[in-house]
Amino acid sequence: MKFNTKTIHGGQHHDPSTGAVMVPVYQTSTFAQKSPGVHGGYEYSRAANPTRTALEDSLASIENGERGLAFSSGLAATDCVMKLLKPGDEVIAMDDLYGGTYRMFTRIYQDYGIVFHFVDMNDVEKFKSLINDKTKLVWVETPTNPLMKLADIEAIAKITKEKNVLFAVDNTFATPYLQRPLDLGADIVMHSATKYLGGHSDVIAGALIVKDKELGEKLHFAQFATGGTLGPQDSYLVLRGIKTLHLRMQRHCENGAKVAEYLESHPKIKTVYYPGLEKHPQYNIAKKQMIGGFGGMVSFTFTSGDKAEAIKFLENLKVFTLAESLGGVESLANHPALMTHASIPEPKRKEIGITDDLVRLSVGVEDAEDLIADIEQALA
Ligand SMILES: *Cc1c(COP(=O)(O)O)cnc(C)c1O
Repeated sequence: MKFNTKTIHGGQHHDPSTGAVMVPVYQTSTFAQKSPGVHGGYEYSRAANPTRTALEDSLASIENGERGLAFSSGLAATDCVMKLLKPGDEVIAMDDLYGGTYRMFTRIYQDYGIVFHFVDMNDVEKFKSLINDKTKLVWVETPTNPLMKLADIEAIAKITKEKNVLFAVDNTFATPYLQRPLDLGADIVMHSATKYLGGHSDVIAGALIVKDKELGEKLHFAQFATGGTLGPQDSYLVLRGIKTLHLRMQRHCENGAKVAEYLESHPKIKTVYYPGLEKHPQYNIAKKQMIGGFGGMVSFTFTSGDKAEAIKFLENLKVFTLAESLGGVESLANHPALMTHASIPEPKRKEIGITDDLVRLSVGVEDAEDLIADIEQALA
């Protein structure tokens, strides 16, 4: 099956008891057994629930994995990967990460004795020099939130395979429509399914997908043993979202490119961060690994460098909504330093380039003309 067909049919079956075309929402905590321990594969919904299983099979299918796991949030999915580690283990992570991931690493797991190194993954020598016997996990987001930095997944996977280190990719921004990390050699794909997979800003959910069965078992055990699973209603919503992922992503890419080009030509705008622009420092990596397009996330700064101008712009928007989150059908705008990335200490933010005049747009699937007109009036 090719990708678009997989979004609709991948891992899906009609309901065996009624023939229902869509998987029902199995709103149940437990399942009747014929005799102690004799059941139809379902015992208790923390372990497995048929609606969640349908979503998990869909996730595995679209990411070209063997096993999908659905979580109560993206961070619960990341947290499950961290449960594979022990005190003393070391993690090498990209230096530009979703604020909540950074917060979990530095304010929860650092206290458990896990050591984190944050590094620009494009500095291959620096990255290699940090790998030692204690290194157990490499964590990469590409493109990153909010600076759209890319990491070369295939190149990193070569190194992690050689050193026997697990390699996880947060694929939230790209989605498997644009980029398939498991095909490029990564071991774990993580998603905030709250974003493009769900696609309608109506659910909080997370996902992990792996190719290796044994690793899938280990992660499922950690999920089952600690309990961050996704409920049946929310599983249904994400599954429903995935069925139109390919249609939405196509329009997100078209609109994202148009907005990025418009911003690039505007005198009030200094830098536009979008992987599809030839000026993007990792444009070559984007062309190589983002097979379906460059997505709908665009960040930019102002020529004035002025925080007040960025705030005024955000207040003036009418079609774009000023809100955290991204990846829904509607366009959203965000001020990372004051909103999504406020949990990163200011000196660290400045060091990686999250300045006070940085604005991040999640370009939706409306008419591009209306979005550009909105940006134009808000800048004026
Ligand atoms: C939102 C987000 C997360 C966290 O996911 P939640 O569903 O909010 O827990 C992780 N990574 C990226 C890139 C995100 O955008």
